[in-house]
Amino acid sequence: MLREDCGVFGVYNFQPDSAACLPAGRAKSVYYGLFALQHRGQESAGIAASDGQHVSCHKNMGLVNQVFDEAALARLKGHIAIGHVRYSTTGSSVIENAQPIVIDTRYGTIALAHNGNLINAAILRQDLKDKGISFVGASDSEVIASMIATSKKEDFEEALVDTLKHCKGAYSLAIMTRDKLIAVRDPHGIRPLCIGKLDKAYVISSETCALDILGAQFVRDVANGEIVVVDKDGLRSRTWQMDEREAICVFEYVYFARPDSVLNGRNVYEARFHMGKYLAKEHPVEADMVMAVPESGVPAAMGYSAESKIPYEEGLIKNRYVGRTFIQPSQEIRDLGVRLKLNPIRDAVRGKKVVIVDDSIIRGTTSRQIVRLIREAGAREVHMRVSSPPNLNPCFYGIDTATKAELIAANLSVEGIRKYIEADSLGYLSLKNLIKSVSLPAKNLCLACLNGEYPVRIPERMQSLKLFFS
Ligand code: AMP
Ligand code: SF4
Repeated sequence: MLREDCGVFGVYNFQPDSAACLPAGRAKSVYYGLFALQHRGQESAGIAASDGQHVSCHKNMGLVNQVFDEAALARLKGHIAIGHVRYSTTGSSVIENAQPIVIDTRYGTIALAHNGNLINAAILRQDLKDKGISFVGASDSEVIASMIATSKKEDFEEALVDTLKHCKGAYSLAIMTRDKLIAVRDPHGIRPLCIGKLDKAYVISSETCALDILGAQFVRDVANGEIVVVDKDGLRSRTWQMDEREAICVFEYVYFARPDSVLNGRNVYEARFHMGKYLAKEHPVEADMVMAVPESGVPAAMGYSAESKIPYEEGLIKNRYVGRTFIQPSQEIRDLGVRLKLNPIRDAVRGKKVVIVDDSIIRGTTSRQIVRLIREAGAREVHMRVSSPPNLNPCFYGIDTATKAELIAANLSVEGIRKYIEADSLGYLSLKNLIKSVSLPAKNLCLACLNGEYPVRIPERMQSLKLFFS
């Protein structure tokens, strides 16, 4: 199955003839925004821009600074622009799936960038195919764009609402028409999306860290089930679906988002620091040092150290030029990936009782390798602490967390996992304290991979596919 774990960004500039209101011009502002969202996707990047008449687009495989140079950015003309960075998952690493998707419709040319995953994409795609629509790639985003294009509604916004009513799952969208910038969040708001403002421009972004890079002021999060439209008359909002509970992905706080971002009012670093503090209360151990699996484990390790009074030290150095372990397609390269990415500081760990904090254990590959690395480096004891509860269920909403068969916690007890990763002890944060750390009501969080309560019902057929196939 194709998943879309991505970042989206958009800008509407009210002074079409002046670059002054954006620190870096139009498309270039999106370039910097995407640069700040690079952690959300390293496979492909793209920007589409509109000058009110024509829509142009540039996208390719690679990191943001590999895909764009000055010449490519200069060709993207206009006062509106949206951009996208895409995460890599097995079998989908092809240019056809790069975004934004640009499509001609009777409402004019539209560009669309999507973060999330539709659980009914296959059915919607088949419906469109039955109507004679062909597809270039395999992304959900192309399905959404094609549904808008084939709508019978007179007006674009009605066509959009009509389309959204059929979409089930997670989606934060940045859409651009020739003269509008539009932000959409699904009825549960599973993936984040926020609005920022510059002097004469509005910005939309997956995370607030990308507003900061432009010096944009945070205005607010896009609400679940909300459509925000920015055009020459300013910003307006409509709620198209307000019956559902808000349910932002808890893994954005645990792992995915950048620590300097604020999602739904909660700073990610603060949340992670508290996860570490609670972890120390729940699973204390006598040790000489606390260290993190860099970089996502760092705030929780600092929290663990603050609570336990065991000194925090660096014990592993990360090669910053290697992408996230998960982006490697095969298990073999994944195994190698840990060594490619991390190297122990032998003198820091030799002879010591070490606590290692990581944000999660998914397949168990990373923890097993790291425990071995630290032991080989001379540590006397190695205690693993995890700043989230056991990952028991697959994610269907756009985070690549493997199938149930691959999820180690779905198949082994905590003691079984401890033995597998060869740690002296293993402790996971409880669900109760994870929720306390995030400081949002449990009913406003998606916790499905931890407790099995999916906010959008997953069809049984799909569940069984994820249960049995890798
Ligand atoms: P694993 O080696 O399969 O147990 O994966 C656990 C490691 O992957 C941890 O170090 C996490 O920081 C990281 N991780 C957790 N969730 C994800 C995700 N959705 N995508 C990529 N990496 C992840
Ligand atoms: Fe996030 Fe887990 Fe829900 Fe997926 S299932 S959206 S990873 S909380």
